[in-house]
Amino acid sequence: MTLPPIVQVGAPVLRARATPVPPERIATPEFQELVQTMIATMRKAPGVGLAAPQIGVPWRVIVLEDRAELQASLTADERRERERVAFGPRVFVNPELRLLGEARELFFEGCLSVAGFAGLVERSLEVEVTGLDEHGVSQTWRVRGWPARILQHEVDHLEGTVYVDRMLTRSFSTQEQAKARFAGKSIAEIRQALGLDAAQK
Ligand code: ZN
Repeated sequence: MTLPPIVQVGAPVLRARATPVPPERIATPEFQELVQTMIATMRKAPGVGLAAPQIGVPWRVIVLEDRAELQASLTADERRERERVAFGPRVFVNPELRLLGEARELFFEGCLSVAGFAGLVERSLEVEVTGLDEHGVSQTWRVRGWPARILQHEVDHLEGTVYVDRMLTRSFSTQEQAKARFAGKSIAEIRQALGLDAAQK
């Protein structure tokens, strides 16, 4: 399979509202190939989620997966703080996201379409997503922690929103800098190091 390049920020397709997929299209070979291409592209990157606009397809389709090997560099404490658990792969066509409760969490996020960078983004701790799966069957997934963050990030892509629109701009870093300065640190320590507790943005 020849994999498409991942579209980088600045491209109009990442700033447009994606189009709902007509459910009768889901069973077509073309759509099934799109789903397989998205999963393969996400894995190769490697990443934990991908939205169709990121490969230049303006449709409301997202894929997500978090594999144990992608978490290998995290300590047990880091995994716990992020509520990061392995799952997937999961496919959502025409997803609708509902934020549950008031709890919100701040953490670093990156994006395959903003290659090489990271920033702190506040997200709802728990969400419920409904939509169709890759067979056109309705599904609902209620989830918290890291998968909830991935879902919010990917559904944002379908609205033309990129995480940099939501991040605390003072936290914007190269991935090397973020790793060197903040790996193994708690969010409270990171906030302090960035001067965020002085209410600066
Ligand atoms: Zn992204």
